[in-house]
Amino acid sequence: MSTPLAAAKGMASDGGTTLAGIDEMLTSEPPPLRAVFVDKDGTLVHATPHGVDADRIELLPGVGEGLRLLQDAGFLLIVTSNEPGVAMGRFPASALTQVEARIDELLAPFGVVITSYGWCTHHPAGARAAGAVACSCRKPRPGLLLEAAATQGIALERSWMIGDMLDDVEAGIRAGCRAVLVDRGGETRWRAGRLRTPSAIVYDFADAASFIVDGRRKVRASQSS
Ligand SMILES: [Mg+2]
Ligand SMILES: [Zn+2]
Repeated sequence: MSTPLAAAKGMASDGGTTLAGIDEMLTSEPPPLRAVFVDKDGTLVHATPHGVDADRIELLPGVGEGLRLLQDAGFLLIVTSNEPGVAMGRFPASALTQVEARIDELLAPFGVVITSYGWCTHHPAGARAAGAVACSCRKPRPGLLLEAAATQGIALERSWMIGDMLDDVEAGIRAGCRAVLVDRGGETRWRAGRLRTPSAIVYDFADAASFIVDGRRKVRASQSS
């Protein structure tokens, strides 16, 4: 008889390997998946006042091509976005379903398929009690990335975050990913720090994708230097 502890370690009490241990070795064979987590407003699509008027959502330049490059390189594509408007009572969470459909529709001509969408619908100062919490998924916290990784078997250390704000960079690095900042003028505070230092700063999404895939980036003067 093996003790529960020995069984958990895949060891029988006589020092041999249990079936559970062998099973674990076999099922751990496929390499873990890798993903690129992508911010929505100002990174994937033009930022709009509430960001959920589906008919007015338009992709930013280079997004379709860039996502296709990442998809072809084997990355899952996961959109992660703070949507405090739900907690604030500005729109219902169901509006995000239309946003997902619209983004899927815009990306279809590029052959790009978003793997999943992660929305933080909370805000500490929210008007709706359900969302008025200091959650663990509002970026710069990494909860959306950690949850996707846990449920989809993603290796965070082989994954990336792309965003237009340093809060996106911080969420990615806190999750254990590397990050690329697409500087489109949205970030104005430039509060620095180890957790807010991207691997690269680029000026459009296609450059972020090519940096991740093959380390190339166009050299331009960085406004952060
Ligand atoms: Mg953004
Ligand atoms: Zn949240």
